[in-house]
Formats: sequence, C-alpha cells, structure tokens
Amino acid sequence: MIDVYIGLGSNLTLPEKQIQAAYASLARLPDTVLIKCSSLYKSQPMGPQDQPDYVNAVALIETALSPESLLQHTQLIENQQGRIRKASRWGPRTLDLDMLLFGLQRIDNEHLTVPHSGMKQREFVLYPLFEIAPDLILPCGEKLANLVMTCPINGLQKMTNSVLI
Ligand code: ATP
Ligand code: MG
Ligand code: MG
Repeated sequence: MIDVYIGLGSNLTLPEKQIQAAYASLARLPDTVLIKCSSLYKSQPMGPQDQPDYVNAVALIETALSPESLLQHTQLIENQQGRIRKASRWGPRTLDLDMLLFGLQRIDNEHLTVPHSGMKQREFVLYPLFEIAPDLILPCGEKLANLVMTCPINGLQKMTNSVLI
C-alpha cells in the first residue's frame, strides 16, 4: 500500500457537500483505505476571477491501485459528481480531484504529472496538506513546513463549522 495525497476542490452546487461526498467516494475505492481528511478551507479562485470562491481540502489514502488506475477512479468520481470539462483552464467546477503525491514516485506522462505541478505554489493545497501531514518531506527533499512558511495565505480561511464525515 502506498500513501497518496489527493487535493479536492469545488466551487459549484453546494461545494462543502461536494467535498464531503468526494471523501465518502474515496473511502469506497477498491484496494484503498481513507486514512485522513483535512478540514475544509475557503479559497480565492485561481485564474478566471468571475467565478465563486472555492472550498478545498486534502485527503490521505493508502492504496494498492496503480497511479493510472487511481486517476481513472478519481476522474469517474469527478464525472459522477457532475464535473463538466470545458476548454478554458481553471473554470468553475463541481469537483476537482488532483493527485498531489503518490508515495515518493515521480510520474511524468501524457495523463499524469506527480508530484502535482502546481502544488508547491498553491496555498489551498499546502495549508490543508500541512494540517494532516505536518512532518511531510516531498520527493524533491523539501520540507512541507518550509513551503508553508513561505507561501502567502492569499485569503485562505479554515471553515470552522463544516461537519466532516
Ligand atoms: P490543475 O491540474 O492545474 O489543478 P485542473 O485540476 O483544473 O488544473 P483538470 O481539468 O482537472 O485540471 O485535469 C486536466 C488533466 O490533467 C487531466 O485530464 C489529467 O490527465 C491531467 N493530470 C496530470 N497530472 C495530474 C494529477 N497529478 N492529478 C490529476 N490530474 C492530472
Ligand atoms: Mg486542479
Ligand atoms: Mg484536476
């Protein structure tokens, strides 16, 4: 079993519920155990600004699935929760599931880049990841704690009253 961190995001159709439903779906994946779920965080949209704020979170799963198989499963969950893919980048979506880290593996092919290419710059990834894995060291050798310290918070807010399953 490999430790895999998944970044979750939603800004359409009751985002908090979308994240909680996605946590439940991750828990039901074959050959996979859901180990940790971060709190939910409200964040400013990246890219196009004419869209609602996002709710973000990070989950830790342990899985025996291959990276490719896990990507197929997470894309199926996105689709089942009504994700409509548009040509424009970073537009509004009901659910985004990004594979942040797959153990210490580095993957770079037409379907997958792991570690996720944007994770080191994104406050809505680093802060929830730090909440559930404060001692994490990235495959490049960098300490997550150092990345968090130098990442502007950009209005990120921990949501206090979200009920996690
Ligand atoms: P970003 O990846 O910058 O957060 P996004 O999440 O909006 O953007 P998507 O539309 O969800 O991008 O995904 C586009 C493609 O990215 C997917 O079809 C998938 O094949 C590819 N991809 C590459 N690396 C990853 C990864 N680590 N996790 C999820 N998808 C990935
Ligand atoms: Mg994304
Ligand atoms: Mg994505």
